[in-house]
Amino acid sequence: MKTDQPTKIIAHRGYWKTEGAVQNSIRSLQEAARIGVYGSEFDVYMTQDEIPVVHHDPKIEKIDIQGANYESIREIGIGNGEKLPTLEAYLKEGAKYPELKLILELKPHHSEETEAIAVRVVLDLIEQTGTGAQVEFISFSMNICRQLRRLMPDHPVAYLRGDVAPDELAAMGFKYLDYNFVKLLWKRSWIREAHENGIRVNTWTVDNRVIMRKLMREGVDYLTTNEPIEAMALAESTIAHREIMPDEPDGSTPNQ
Ligand code: MG
Repeated sequence: MKTDQPTKIIAHRGYWKTEGAVQNSIRSLQEAARIGVYGSEFDVYMTQDEIPVVHHDPKIEKIDIQGANYESIREIGIGNGEKLPTLEAYLKEGAKYPELKLILELKPHHSEETEAIAVRVVLDLIEQTGTGAQVEFISFSMNICRQLRRLMPDHPVAYLRGDVAPDELAAMGFKYLDYNFVKLLWKRSWIREAHENGIRVNTWTVDNRVIMRKLMREGVDYLTTNEPIEAMALAESTIAHREIMPDEPDGSTPNQ
């Protein structure tokens, strides 16, 4: 199935390949908004005292975030002059850009109990910051995805691990998936199978232009990348190509 919409582009850990930004910084979120990308992705871990922070790795300066109190890590710098951002600060900043989707990756935590607390705390913060219309969820934890689906049934929730076929996800009630591009290139029928089951497809993390184009032509709905400016331009030109194709009366090859 080819959709008639250009693939929506998501900046992986924000748009960080620019002056003054690093991955998962507030600055990378601001830069994602500035370039007009569909969404800005970021990673969330919760501390022992239940403060969610934005960070990709489970540890920061060798300290396990889940085992630490927030006070003990709050002053740690992330490399661009910013301190470790809290999710609250991140969402408050994101709320300034209502057109920007906030692609919240809630990381797997040490136990299902901790994950249940993390889900509740994150949803409370979303409500407090009024960012409900902007946030979309992704997670490698099926437990987290299931809980988010149950508590936020109308919200996009995409499972990341790539080990569940689209028809199985559909049977579980999922409307989105977000799988590694290698998996989708290997399981090429999964994009079609997802669409046939009413599931929208995101893919991570695609930085190669040839692979971007290939997946866009296959009809992926979203593409997550560290090269969002290039991907946005490619998405626009790819949809133009798709639109021209059916109307070519003489079967000539459209310009690329
Ligand atoms: Mg992530």
